[in-house]
Amino acid sequence: MLPLECQGCHSPIIQFNSVNLQPLFSRYLTKKDLINNWHQCQNCLSVFRSCSKTSDYKYSDSEIYIQKEFSKRLSNISRITESIDINSIIFDLGSGPGIISKILSDMGYQVIQVEPSRDSFFKSIPQLKIDIQTFINQEIWKQYLKPMQKASILLIDVLEHLPFSIDIFKLNSDSNLSTVYIETGCVDYAFPSLNRWYYLDYSDHIFVPSINSIYSSFNNNNISIERISNSLNNYSKLNNYFRKIIYYINKLSYLIFNRDIFLVPIRSMHDHISITIKP
Ligand SMILES: [Zn+2]
Repeated sequence: MLPLECQGCHSPIIQFNSVNLQPLFSRYLTKKDLINNWHQCQNCLSVFRSCSKTSDYKYSDSEIYIQKEFSKRLSNISRITESIDINSIIFDLGSGPGIISKILSDMGYQVIQVEPSRDSFFKSIPQLKIDIQTFINQEIWKQYLKPMQKASILLIDVLEHLPFSIDIFKLNSDSNLSTVYIETGCVDYAFPSLNRWYYLDYSDHIFVPSINSIYSSFNNNNISIERISNSLNNYSKLNNYFRKIIYYINKLSYLIFNRDIFLVPIRSMHDHISITIKP
């Protein structure tokens, strides 16, 4: 079942058209059934689909995976710490294996992981097994705050898994929230393209917002949106050059095989945005 309205802008479903996405060549055989279920809102251009495999998905507990995630997250942690108040309690929503929580906790922040579907690797950091919608609707953070203390909410690579409207993260002035900080993919920077956007090819991604949908959902002046690209930071100097080469190889490949050889977006790779919402 598709949602009855767009998760980005609440437009009714009647305005949705199917997105004619080509599957990624490398994943075509195993993920064929999932690929063509994407729809795009004709009003705000967010894309979504009904199926999700989130609850089946297991994180690898291999040392290599954890180390890789650790160094990737650590190299970007200042984006998060610049946005949040050090005296607040950070609630890491959809914390998954707990890597971001662990880094922040080691830096001295008070962190609580909110993750309903799996255990964190880091048991010394408190974990609430509450789903995100319940956590937000019941303002669960208030139970943990000391007088005058505020909460910060993180949603790092989480929005794309959520089946409900993004405006539940709106801040009420009496909510005791100091910041909501989000990192997610964004259609404006990677879709549509000649090439296929592999962000849509993860079986557990069900929603990708547009910039328009974010502004219309939060509708205030206290929101800042910044384009980031979190996969290839370490190659940033080569990134543009590399992209151009791939782009021309794919163009050639389109002429000959009618499909891409290298499966990355034209304009960037794994392009994300960071969204900071203050009350
Ligand atoms: Zn929409």
